[in-house]
Amino acid sequence: MSKIPQSTIDEVLSRADIESVVGRYVSFTKRTGQNLFGLCPFHSEKTPSFSVNPHRGSFKCYGCQKYGNSIGFIMEIEKLSFPEAVKFLGDLYGVNVEWGEDDGGNGSDLKERKKRVMSILTDAAGFYYKALNSDAGKKARDYAASRKLTKETLIKFGIGYAPEGFDHLYRYLKNKGYNDDELKESGLFTISKKGTLIDLFRGRLIVPIFDAWGKIVAFGGRNLGPELPKYVNSPDSLVYKKQKHLYALNYAKKSKSKQLIIVEGYMDAIAIHQAGIDNAVAALGTAFTESQLHLASKYAEEVVFFFDSDGAGKAAALRATKMMLDYLRRMTGIKIRIKIASVPNGKDPDEYIKTNGAESFRSVVRSAKDVNDYLFARAYDDNYDQETALDLTRFQEDIITYGSWLYDPIKREKMAVQAAQYLNVRSETIVAAMDKAEKDTFDKNNEISRRSQEREDEKEVSERRVEAVNTPKADVVSRDEIELLVRAVRIGPVLADQSKIDRKDVLRKNDFQGENIREAVKFFLVHFDAKTGVSEGVLISKLSQLLFNGIKAEIFFDRVNSSLPQEANEDAEIAKYKQALYRVRIHACERGLMELGPLIIGASDPEEKERLMEKNAALEAYLQELQENLGKL
Ligand SMILES: [Zn+2]
Repeated sequence: MSKIPQSTIDEVLSRADIESVVGRYVSFTKRTGQNLFGLCPFHSEKTPSFSVNPHRGSFKCYGCQKYGNSIGFIMEIEKLSFPEAVKFLGDLYGVNVEWGEDDGGNGSDLKERKKRVMSILTDAAGFYYKALNSDAGKKARDYAASRKLTKETLIKFGIGYAPEGFDHLYRYLKNKGYNDDELKESGLFTISKKGTLIDLFRGRLIVPIFDAWGKIVAFGGRNLGPELPKYVNSPDSLVYKKQKHLYALNYAKKSKSKQLIIVEGYMDAIAIHQAGIDNAVAALGTAFTESQLHLASKYAEEVVFFFDSDGAGKAAALRATKMMLDYLRRMTGIKIRIKIASVPNGKDPDEYIKTNGAESFRSVVRSAKDVNDYLFARAYDDNYDQETALDLTRFQEDIITYGSWLYDPIKREKMAVQAAQYLNVRSETIVAAMDKAEKDTFDKNNEISRRSQEREDEKEVSERRVEAVNTPKADVVSRDEIELLVRAVRIGPVLADQSKIDRKDVLRKNDFQGENIREAVKFFLVHFDAKTGVSEGVLISKLSQLLFNGIKAEIFFDRVNSSLPQEANEDAEIAKYKQALYRVRIHACERGLMELGPLIIGASDPEEKERLMEKNAALEAYLQELQENLGKL
C-alpha cells in the first residue's frame, strides 16, 4: 500500500479538477447536462463517447467503458502507478506529495534505494570527470578536441572519461562505502562469469544524462576509436527510463525559443548547444516515443526533427511521423506543431555545424518542412528515378497512405492539391481516397480495440468473480438473455453495419451472466467477426453441447425462438433487438450494484472504498443512460 497520507490524496483530488486534468489531453466538443464530451484518448473513435462529469469529478467512456477520477485518468494515460500519479498531479497543482511508491509493501525502502542510486551516479560522474583531466585521460581529451568540443562545453555537460580496465570505477565506489547490491542497481556495471562486478564503461568518453531538473540519471559512452559498438548507454534503472527522457532538456527548457530541435544523438545536441543554439534536445532510444513527444509539448509549441538521411533514418522518420500524428489525433488537447528538417548532403547536424557554422544551421532549421510538405516530398522523392522519372502508381499509393495520416483536413487538402498536378485527377478525388483509407484503418483499429477490450473485460470479470458475493452458476441464464441471442442471430450481418447499429449496441459476451451462454455468444461473435455470419443451424449444433439452467441449451433456445413472432421489417427487428439488449444490460447493472453495496460498506481501506464508490457512481450513470435509451425505443 502507498505511504501517501489520505489527506494529501484528498487535497490533490480537490485541486486537480477533472476538467482541467483531462483537458490537457482531450478537447471537449460538446456539453450535455452535467457532462462534457470529447473524443476518447484510449480508443479510436470518430464521434465523442468520452465524458467528464466535473460535478462528480469523474470521467467515463461509453465506448471502451474506462472510468475513474483524476488520479485514475493519469494512471491510465501516463502509465503510472497510483502513487506516481498522485505525485504527478501534485507537481502540476502545487501539492507537496511525500514520495512513497507502491512496490508491494515497502515504499520507503524503494525511496532509499533510489536515493542511493542517484548518489552513486553523482559520485561516478565526479570520477569520470576527474579521469578526463588525469594523465590517462589524454587520449579522451585529444578525441574531444578532434570533435571540437570546447573546455566550456566539457564543463557544462559534465563530460568525462572512463579509463581502460575492469574495475577502476568499482573500486572507487566501494571505497566510498557503496555495497554490491546498490552498485548493481546503478546500471554502471555488468556481472562477470565469476559473479564479480565489472565496469560497464571502459576506455570511453562519458556523457552524463540529466533529467529535466538537471539530476544525473544515466550515462552514455562514446568510443574513442573505430571499434564497435560506437555507443554504449546505461540500461533502464530505478531512476532512468530512456523512453521518457530527452537529453539536454534541462538546458533547452530554459531557452526563450518556443521551439525544440530534436536530434538523434547526444553528440549532435551538444554540438548544437556549443554553436549557441540553446533549444536542442536528443532522443535517447532508437525510436522517438509518445512519452517524449508529450514531454516536448510541455515545453514547446513546435518541434523540429532531424533524422539521419540514410535508409534506416528515413524509415525511422516515417515511423516517427506516423506515430506522432496518431498520438496527436487521439490527444486532442495537446497542441504542438511538427516539422521535419534534413541536413543537406546526408551529414549529421554535428558535422554540418562544424563545416558550415551556426548561421547556416539556423537557416536549415528555418527551412524545416511542415509535416504535410515533408510527407509529400517523401512520396515524390522515394518514387522518383532519374531514368524512369516518377513512378506514378507508387507515388499515388504513398500519397493516399500519407494523406490518410493527416487528421487536419486543411493539410490533407493541401497535399491532395499538390499531388493532383502529377496524377492528373481532381484533388477532390484524391481527398476522397485519403478519407477512405483513413476509414479503413479506423475500422480495422476499432476491430482490434474491440477484441482487446473483450480480453480486458474478461480479466475484469474474472477478478470481479472473486469479489462477487454470489458466484454465478455456469449455466444460469435469464429469458431476456436468450431472447437477446435469438434477436442477434435474426438480424445477423446488420450488427456489423454501423450506420444501422452503433458499435456500442453490439452485444458483448460480458453482457451475460452465466458461462455457458457467454460461450454461445462468443461462438456467435467469432463467426460474426470472420464475416461468415452464423446460421441458426450452426449455432444449434454448438448449443447442443451446452446446458442452460440445467436444460439442453438448444431446447431452451428453440423454445424462446418459436415464441417470438417474426417482425414485419428489419427496423422493427432491430428495435426489438435493442430492447432486449438494454433490458439485459440493465439487469447486469442492477446485479453489479447489488454486489457492490455490501463491498462498499465492508471496505476498510479508503482507497479501495473510493474506487468502489467510483464504480458505483459509474454503474448508476450507465444504468440511467440505459433506461433512457430503452424509454426512447
Ligand atoms: Zn474509450
